[in-house]
Amino acid sequence: MLFDILTIFPELFSSPLQEGILRRAIGSGRIRVNLHNIRDYAVDKHKMTDDRPFGGGEGMVMKPEPLVAALDHVRSRGESARVILLSPRGGTYCQKTAERLAGYDRLILVCGRYEGVDERVARCCIDEEISIGDYILTGGELGAMVIIDSVTRLLPGVLGSEDSAANDTFSRGLLKHPQYTRPREFMGMDIPEVLLSGDHAEIEKYRFLESVRETLERRPELLAHVRFTGAELKLLKKAGMLEQVAAAGKDHG
Ligand code: SAM
Repeated sequence: MLFDILTIFPELFSSPLQEGILRRAIGSGRIRVNLHNIRDYAVDKHKMTDDRPFGGGEGMVMKPEPLVAALDHVRSRGESARVILLSPRGGTYCQKTAERLAGYDRLILVCGRYEGVDERVARCCIDEEISIGDYILTGGELGAMVIIDSVTRLLPGVLGSEDSAANDTFSRGLLKHPQYTRPREFMGMDIPEVLLSGDHAEIEKYRFLESVRETLERRPELLAHVRFTGAELKLLKKAGMLEQVAAAGKDHG
């Protein structure tokens, strides 16, 4: 998968792309990340990428010409791409969006700065605006990193086990069950016996119920969108959780 990033601060990306899973994904050719400095497309002698807002008011606005020139150039090289503007007014990013974006071969991520980009850029050249949450960042670069990171780990062959992403929190609308590693006893706390039983079916059942318990406690609204299998409903009933789960689903449905 190819990510093209348009930014005035390309150096911000160097460290996150040089560690862990992202570094390996780049090394194995599963992803490529091309960084494009919008300033290189500014035509005036001061290489300006921003200007004062028409109508007055605080701050500066990203000029349309360098941005559109950068986009045209990047777009013309290679296959078609989904063009995304990082923007606080966009649709809120979530795992479902990450899954959808992982279906594209190429994403172009446009990072705003200052007070944002000239509205005409958004109108003419952007397929989609994405917000990474209801707060304001100084620029779109961290948002672009969030998208690169979360999409990359969904691509085939990127994680060690094919199941890792499928069992993640949010992948089916439930929070992940609590996890434990060695030592068996830590600060007087033991681990649940069933995890030592070697009985994989029992462990799966236990983990499923813990997953639902965590979701009920911390994010009950997620349960409105979870579809349980018949076997799972039986398990929930046996554990005395079915009514609570149904009530949470209704409250938030
Ligand atoms: N003045 C703008 C407003 O009130 O909506 C905020 C501009 S912000 C300081 C500069 C840039 O950071 C934005 O153009 C956008 O690219 C990026 N940005 C800020 N918050 C973001 C968020 N929650 N999600 C995605 N991008 C964000």
